[in-house]
Amino acid sequence: MRRERGPLTRPTPAGVPGVDQSLLERILEESPIGMAVIDIDGIYRIVNPAYGALYGYAPSELVGRSFTTVFPEGQRARALAMHQAFLADGGAFRGETDVLRRDGQIFSVLAESVRVPGRDGRGERLVYVVDISQRKRSEQALQSSQQFLHSVLDGLTSQVCVLDEAGVIMAVNRAWRDFAAANAGLSNRVHEGANYLAECERASHEFAAGESPEGSPFVQQLRQVLAGQRTGFQFEYPCHSPTEQRWFLARVSRIEGSQPLRVVVAHDNVTALKQAQETLRESEALLLDLAASIPGAMFRLVNSAAGRWRFVYFSPGLEALFELAPAQACGDIHTLTRHILAEDRPAHDQSIREAVASGRVWEHEYRIRTPSGRLKWVQAKASPKPGPDGSTVWTGVLTDVSERKHMESVLKASEEKYRTLFETVPQGVVYQDASGRITSANPAAQRILGLTLEQMQGLQSIDSRWEALHEDGSPFPGEQHPSMVALRTGQPVNNVVMGISVPDRGHAWLLINATPLVRQGVVQEVYASFEDITERVLMSRELHLQANTDYLTGVANRRGLMERLQLEFKRMQQQPSRRCAVLAADLDHFKRINDSWGHAVGDAVLQHVARLMQQLTRQRDLVARSGGEEFTLLLPEVGADEALALAERLRQHLQATPLLHQGQPLPVTLSIGVSPMSATDAAAEVALLRADQALYQAKAGGRNLVRLAPVSR
Ligand code: GH3
Ligand code: MG
Ligand code: MG
Repeated sequence: MRRERGPLTRPTPAGVPGVDQSLLERILEESPIGMAVIDIDGIYRIVNPAYGALYGYAPSELVGRSFTTVFPEGQRARALAMHQAFLADGGAFRGETDVLRRDGQIFSVLAESVRVPGRDGRGERLVYVVDISQRKRSEQALQSSQQFLHSVLDGLTSQVCVLDEAGVIMAVNRAWRDFAAANAGLSNRVHEGANYLAECERASHEFAAGESPEGSPFVQQLRQVLAGQRTGFQFEYPCHSPTEQRWFLARVSRIEGSQPLRVVVAHDNVTALKQAQETLRESEALLLDLAASIPGAMFRLVNSAAGRWRFVYFSPGLEALFELAPAQACGDIHTLTRHILAEDRPAHDQSIREAVASGRVWEHEYRIRTPSGRLKWVQAKASPKPGPDGSTVWTGVLTDVSERKHMESVLKASEEKYRTLFETVPQGVVYQDASGRITSANPAAQRILGLTLEQMQGLQSIDSRWEALHEDGSPFPGEQHPSMVALRTGQPVNNVVMGISVPDRGHAWLLINATPLVRQGVVQEVYASFEDITERVLMSRELHLQANTDYLTGVANRRGLMERLQLEFKRMQQQPSRRCAVLAADLDHFKRINDSWGHAVGDAVLQHVARLMQQLTRQRDLVARSGGEEFTLLLPEVGADEALALAERLRQHLQATPLLHQGQPLPVTLSIGVSPMSATDAAAEVALLRADQALYQAKAGGRNLVRLAPVSR
């Protein structure tokens, strides 16, 4: 069977000397490795099945053909030349070469050649051929992946090396090489192939003589990683150069899944980071110094995940505040709380619970009794931040607020006092804002004005509902209200009498003081204080009335006459077109009445005459008994003719209507002088004089007469 298939059917009489030919044939026949024997001319003499299969031929197809058949065309001549040179020179011939399969595919083989004696005494070449194309491809892939790995490694700023399990450096990246090159003496110690572990051991002994026999912690841990006892570690170390301070961080880690074990060592220059940390530490130190100098006690309070509280820091200010050393407070969390007044404890504890629950700023004020017995108000303020291991760190400050609390209580007391005053004074007090609107009114004001605070709020002084009046009954314009004047001028306005309409009471009379409240040069508001002087006003009005009234007849007396005369004269001067007439009337021969009937009857006659005069005059006219049996009438808005007519009516009416005494009429007549008032008169009394002169004319004329005074110029 084999004979039919293989080239070994062909006898090889010359064979390989000293070798059992049949054994050789059998080896060739059965070897999984391709083998062939090629003569000096390059002709296949023997080809085994594995060889043929490799190239896609049956062995018989190759035997007798040139071995260059399996080479790409361009390489055939060279292959033959090398073949013949090998046979001429002898020795071994080993090499990788690209060959051509029958189907035209090029692939790689590793060929190993041995020179053997040939049939004709000339040498022949026995060649073993192994297909290495698979390995080649893997190699290429590996190469490209290693290139990638290297490019990645080289791109790292970290200095990276890969160690084998013995600690020998298998690869380094560019940063590593650069660093080694820049640091004299390193490049020949930590290059590829050097033992990194040994180098570290040497260095640790050198730098720390007398250290533990196991070497530095770094070496110990590196050994553990190399031994597969741990997966990695980090290690920070100083590595100062002559010119600068440097710190490095070494990260050692086993390459996951590596078999055999491989370890990556990466060194990073962390000097900048370290310096930043240093700066931070310095600024923290500064902060601590600052904390020591600020008033109050700064603290850090840690609430662990397990709920345990502990002060980790207290600034020296605690001494002044609590009379306690920071160490005492940090040693025992209850040191501070023991000094809080018992009645303040529940609120204090509650405020903390609430702050913890909400995660917001804790702010609370409470009282303490210091060891020396002093009572103080403490304000606590702290804000939470998450700390390590699930803890919360509260950073805050305790401040002595006793002074402020004292001020507050004084202020409160004075406010209370003020409020009590405001609430209880008999005077009404009303606050009005800058626009005159009422903002506040005390109970007295509400009572006096007959309005509730709600009804008053928002009302202004100029509101028409007040129906404000002057004492003489003339309207009091809102803009002249003392509050409005004070707001406008910024000056207080005092003792203004004003009548205002009060529900269900008619007019109430107020004596008002208005005081502007000026802050920073601006009138902010005004307060009007007022008392109810209605009683007083009414009484004085009564007195005034009495003083101006004739007790016998009830008409005005001389005083009332003169007051009204002045008023009418003033009005006329203000308004010259106004008119006013004066009538001077005197009973004729009155003496006789007294003499005949007695004084009392004379009085009754006087009363009768006064009554008649009032009946015949208007409300606005004034009837006055200006003397014993003399009457004076003031007739506003009346000219000379009208006045004369009235005087005549009076004269006639009295004559026609005598007083009846015991059924008997007591006739009495009147002489009347009439004079208009004039704005050009030197004084009010001038018109009276003129009327008197006219009266004199009437008497002289025979009595029971009316005379008009000559018109004044
Ligand atoms: P003639 O026409 O000139 O005015 O005369 P006559 O009497 O009215 O004037 P005369 O001045 O001489 O007298 C006034 C009198 O009026 C004198 C006085 O007794 C009287 N008399 C004055 N006052 C009162 C009074 O209050 N009651 C009474 N009964 N008589 C008075
Ligand atoms: Mg008379
Ligand atoms: Mg008289």
